Amino acid sequence: MSVAIQFDPIRLPAEAEALRVEVRTFLKEELAAGTFEPHASRRPNPEFSRKVGEKGWIGLTWPKEYGGQERSFLERYVVNEEFLFAGAPTRKHFTADRQSGPVLIKYASDAIKQDILPRIIKGEVSFCIGMSEPNSGSDLFAASTKAERTDDGWLINGAKLWTSLAHEADYMIGLFRTSAPTQDNRRHGLSQFVVDMKTPGISTRPVLHPDGNHEFNEVIFDNALLPLDNLLGEADMAWKQATSELAYERSGSERFLETGQVLFELIDFIGENPDNREAEGLGRLVAQLHTLRRMSISVAGMLHAGKEPVLEASVVKDLGTVWEQALPSIARDLAAFVDKDPGNRMRFEEILAHNLTIAPKLTIQGGTTEVLRGIVARGLGLR
Ligand SMILES: Cc1cc2nc3c(=O)[nH]c(=O)nc-3n(C[C@H](O)[C@H](O)[C@H](O)COP(=O)(O)OP(=O)(O)OC[C@H]3O[C@@H](n4cnc5c(N)ncnc54)[C@H](O)[C@@H]3O)c2cc1C
Repeated sequence: MSVAIQFDPIRLPAEAEALRVEVRTFLKEELAAGTFEPHASRRPNPEFSRKVGEKGWIGLTWPKEYGGQERSFLERYVVNEEFLFAGAPTRKHFTADRQSGPVLIKYASDAIKQDILPRIIKGEVSFCIGMSEPNSGSDLFAASTKAERTDDGWLINGAKLWTSLAHEADYMIGLFRTSAPTQDNRRHGLSQFVVDMKTPGISTRPVLHPDGNHEFNEVIFDNALLPLDNLLGEADMAWKQATSELAYERSGSERFLETGQVLFELIDFIGENPDNREAEGLGRLVAQLHTLRRMSISVAGMLHAGKEPVLEASVVKDLGTVWEQALPSIARDLAAFVDKDPGNRMRFEEILAHNLTIAPKLTIQGGTTEVLRGIVARGLGLR
């Protein structure tokens, strides 16, 4: 069945803009207090996450019974956007806030919700995502890590790969095979679980970036026994559940602002009197960013309205990552002829160098460009 792609024209409401002022004030104060240095650290900052938790800005949209605020996705959008602009260290709580918590709210048992959600909200626990495997990346439905039901619980054997931050995560939302695919549905047979990373039989091995940074891991499961209650939703039916998780994962402003600092530094570096070439280049980039932002806000509004904008989120992720991937090289070209304050140039060059290095991964993480386009084409009935 084909469906249309629809971006509802949504504006940020007054309460979201009021929250923006509050978040900016908080960030300014924390910066002055030395809680963090902008864009400086890839390490988790437990103190910062705890303070964000105290403000009530983790799990902002979640039910009050678990400590959430039941505020809108548009307000969450603003908090996320301000943290990104400020280069705030959200690493400890980010994945749990963005996608793992919402999965638990939808599919976990009440006991698990009561146990884990309040701790996410306080900024105390972190999550990783266990989907990809050595022979199953884009094609998630080829996953072979097994969860076998026994009288004592689910016995897990196999390995996950490219698991960001697994070495420092408290929990994983893992996708495991609970039965074989059926003849008419190859997506059947996978299930989602919440995994306590301290479970005996789970170990992580670092997979280092070329620059030596440790972000990725291989996670090995060797007869790791999970309680029966840790199954999320229905056994064998993860293909239905994981898609809504991906709408949360793919549509936020982190999907086009990861290299955004290059643009803001470039604007600073070029200064108040750009020549025609610089003005044209900056104008084009800012107009594109504005459009991406409107699309991302639209998806946040649709999530708030209870819709599942899976196609629209895929479009935001595709356009957003292609844009943020090209941004550092465009900025380098624009800066090439700028003859201004060398102090400024040094800072710009440093930020540019870092972002040129990370750009290649952007169209791979969270679903590759080709795969996203396949999803959109299928949604439009074109394949
Ligand atoms: C920075 C980063 C962080 C990541 N973090 C995590 C994480 O935390 N948890 C996790 O589970 N995974 C994570 N991943 C893994 C990521 O989701 C996979 O790398 C991705 O799904 C691609 O899988 P693959 O590497 O096996 O490549 P493959 O799937 O083998 O793809 C290779 C190439 O073939 C193309 N291709 C594949 N299938 C199709 C198709 N049907 N149509 C057209 N082209 C196709 C792809 O676009 C790609 O160009 C991360 C990846 C990166 C880069």
